[in-house]
Amino acid sequence: MMKTMKTILILAGIGLVLLFGYYFARNLFRPARYLKFIEWMRDPQAHADWAITAGEQCGDAPFTMPTDGLVGFIWGDSFRIGHSHQGIDIFGGTESGLTPVYAAYDGYLTRQDSWKSSLIIRIPDDPLQPGRQIWTYYTHMADENGNSYITAEFPAGTKEVFIKAGTLLGYQGNYSGTPNHPVGVHLHFSVVKDNGKGNFLNELDKSNTLDPSPYFGLPLNSQTNNDIVPVCPITEQP
Ligand SMILES: [Zn+2]
Repeated sequence: MMKTMKTILILAGIGLVLLFGYYFARNLFRPARYLKFIEWMRDPQAHADWAITAGEQCGDAPFTMPTDGLVGFIWGDSFRIGHSHQGIDIFGGTESGLTPVYAAYDGYLTRQDSWKSSLIIRIPDDPLQPGRQIWTYYTHMADENGNSYITAEFPAGTKEVFIKAGTLLGYQGNYSGTPNHPVGVHLHFSVVKDNGKGNFLNELDKSNTLDPSPYFGLPLNSQTNNDIVPVCPITEQP
């Protein structure tokens, strides 16, 4: 009897470890999407059908695509243990400073004094939840040394300038925040919650951001995107 109990406990333990390992691996690493990302970075021209196009609008979704490229990482992807991606990363497949970035929706643009590669746009009335204020955050628009690619129209210190969807904001870059430590050329975009007092919450924390999927009409949530590269219209991928 004791022996049977022991065997059951050991089997249950192994089962739990396997289950935990499976979910961990699944969330940490989306193999098909990651492999496509590697292939894209190697030869973007060969995979034009994997890319989204700036200005395109998917179905009834309110936001237009802010730039061209492959959506390589989505909301909730994990790059390391304990980290969860707060937005989406769109890789233009060009050199730094060449792929234009446009506003995805009308709003009020602010660029803090110290922001080299980032800006944030206040949307007073969330198109998906009228009455609520949200923010859209754009970053990595600078070269590897932090020289900004944001257009001269929006210098550091810009506050609350109204812009329409489709306004040119700048260009995709590879600034990581630390000079001479470039990241792959991309735009990071996230939808950030308001603090209820008219300011945005810390955009670095995923719990302060919203699932961008319904805003773009694309599967951008790693919990529900079954390992496909998001493109419009959404198609089945082998
Ligand atoms: Zn990102």
